[in-house]
Amino acid sequence: MHASLESLDALLARQRAAFLADPYPEPAARRDRLERLLRLADRHETTFIQAIDADFGGRSAHETRLAELLVVRSGIRYALRHLNRWMRVRRIPTAPYFRPGRNRLLPQPLGVAGIIAPWNYPFQLSIGPAVAALAAGNRVLVKPSELAPRFAEALQEAVATHFAPDELAVVQGGAELADAFARLPLDHLFFTGSPTVGRLVAQAAAERLTPLTLELGGKSPAILAPDCDLADAARRIAFGKLLNAGQTCVAPDYLLVPAGRADAVADALAAAIGRLYPGLPATPDYSAIIDERHHARLAALVEDARAQGARILRPGWPEQADDAAPRKFPPTLALNVPPQARLMREEIFGPILPIIEYRDPQEAIDRVNAGERPLALYWFGRDPALRDHALRSTHAGGVCVNDCLWQLAQEAQPFGGVGMSGFGAYHGRWGFDRFSHLKPVFLQSRLGGAPLLHPPYGRVFDAL
Ligand code: NAD
Repeated sequence: MHASLESLDALLARQRAAFLADPYPEPAARRDRLERLLRLADRHETTFIQAIDADFGGRSAHETRLAELLVVRSGIRYALRHLNRWMRVRRIPTAPYFRPGRNRLLPQPLGVAGIIAPWNYPFQLSIGPAVAALAAGNRVLVKPSELAPRFAEALQEAVATHFAPDELAVVQGGAELADAFARLPLDHLFFTGSPTVGRLVAQAAAERLTPLTLELGGKSPAILAPDCDLADAARRIAFGKLLNAGQTCVAPDYLLVPAGRADAVADALAAAIGRLYPGLPATPDYSAIIDERHHARLAALVEDARAQGARILRPGWPEQADDAAPRKFPPTLALNVPPQARLMREEIFGPILPIIEYRDPQEAIDRVNAGERPLALYWFGRDPALRDHALRSTHAGGVCVNDCLWQLAQEAQPFGGVGMSGFGAYHGRWGFDRFSHLKPVFLQSRLGGAPLLHPPYGRVFDAL
């Protein structure tokens, strides 16, 4: 059910009152909320899989299990395992002249956190941040994407079954409600989506100086070093690119390969795609594109590149398949793509992979640095010196070496962007800290202090 703007204000007021009544939930209360989230994921798994499948017009059930339910479950279990340690007051060193006073850092819940989520992994990106926010002791409002409406409805019902509205609540709505949501006097606003909308969200949050996390996208490069194992890299890149038909924020957006190797890379990718997805387009393992508009956008990107001289390959995709599977988009390789083509200027967010040649590794590094800072960078190669040089010379939210996507699954590592791919990170303890105020406390000793530094100052300064 879509929320009215008035009901949004009322819900926030309820959550704020509940937070003030219990401003520092004990570990048991936080555990209980996390365990209820776990039950929600277990009990509604089939409903979520079916709803997401219907929203996409064909989303692989395995992909929903792997990239949404499994990822969130493991995040909850990790939080349950570490919660006590995260909540502990942290000891901070104290300079000798302030002893025997002591420094402490108190992780404190912020209050009411708002989460705005995109449609591409609607469960993971709505509930993943909520895990961190609830572990940190906050009340949470979630606004899922209107582009996955069946899922949003299913999530709202499931959350209402397991949570009181003043603990965790889901609100549904389109752009107008989303805009109002971003203007709420929240204690933290956590946004996952495009840089374009991220900018609007940042402007809305700026009015109240609402603390903000932006998890955005961008053009994540995969660089194949001259010494990389081509067949192995191709298999891993094909998986990373075609999971959810490329509608993944950390999917490799384009490949940088050594001069003269583009055809060999294309052949290796075609072979890998044939093995991963036999029977395209019918195979249910290959997901569809979320809607007509995005499908048409991807087709326009390919046509624009073709018109500018790019060579387009559609491995494993029979010609007549376009009509047979109108919501699916063929795995597409694009060679000889000029830099001014839209394919090289916009985040692709679909199963199209431009393959660009570089003359020497420095040219690949310069090319990455010429664009906005991406959410991910992938490096395939054996030479550790060249790898380290590349990692030190480029910026990216996170890096995975000799594979794709798995940096995102590391609960002990922060996940987030840099520059145009966003700011503020979460997952594991980083998420707990993101939704906490790490409050510095100085505990003065009865013996401490420096009375000589108090007024009247003349005594001290005259003596100096
Ligand atoms: P989007 O920016 O179009 O929408 C995201 C959310 O913002 C939706 O819930 C939408 O309702 C809401 N929204 C729309 N207008 C708004 C407004 N004026 N104020 C506040 N909220 C508003 O993104 P999308 O198409 O759903 O998702 C794709 C994008 O998200 C890609 O750029 C992708 O890279 C990025 N993404 C990033 C991550 C990450 O973790 N960094 C994960 C997934 C997707």
